[in-house]
Amino acid sequence: MSISAHLDQVRQAIAAAARAAARPPESVLLIAVSKTFGPDAVITAADAGQRAFGENYLQEALDKKLAISEARPDLALEWHFIGPIQSNKTRPIAENFDWVHAVDREKIAQRLSDQRPADLPPLQICLQVNVSGEDSKSGVSPDDLLPLARAVSVMPHLQLRGLMAIPEPTEDAERQRAPFIQLRQLAQQLREAGIDTDTLSMGMSADMVAAIAEGATMVRIGTAIFGQRDYAK
Ligand SMILES: *Cc1c(COP(=O)(O)O)cnc(C)c1O
Repeated sequence: MSISAHLDQVRQAIAAAARAAARPPESVLLIAVSKTFGPDAVITAADAGQRAFGENYLQEALDKKLAISEARPDLALEWHFIGPIQSNKTRPIAENFDWVHAVDREKIAQRLSDQRPADLPPLQICLQVNVSGEDSKSGVSPDDLLPLARAVSVMPHLQLRGLMAIPEPTEDAERQRAPFIQLRQLAQQLREAGIDTDTLSMGMSADMVAAIAEGATMVRIGTAIFGQRDYAK
């Protein structure tokens, strides 16, 4: 099946999951995760109406963005950096992306704010939270989330939009929901502490339906659109 047929399928699955949760389908933004796929795949998806793209690897993303803007200067795409952030790589991220999803330290946020060019809109930020059961070392712990959110919310060239999580994969639909519920509740706690956000970036190809049921406003979908990734290339 083609990229555009896959995109249609994913859009329909998002709409169905949203309706099942009594939410409007437009309340869930689809981010097409194009890592490991070339500029042509992005252009094909863009021509099929996809606007937001997610990338994990900085150099790959910069090369791809450049190739796309040369081939198709007419395309106005929105770029989301969803990978881990090394502190010595913040400047090109601040200069080349619209959103950053995996901010988990104040130092990284401060550098992104300092390095965001003044002629661009504020960089849109999600804080990555290490939700329960996650082995990975990335993500702020739930206990440290509020102070980090407070610090980021006043940085001049950033706009704090919400929370992001990458739970441990599980096939079990019920177990998929628990970390998403936790992320939604953490956003509620921030709201009660006076920090309003509007974004829950959660859900990938295999757990998107559970994430939408629990309130995801952005799903990050790679495999279901572009196919299996080949990291050997
Ligand atoms: C790769 C990746 C995705 C997409 O995963 P799929 O399972 O291919 O949909 C989403 N979010 C992050 C942070 C990723 O690294």
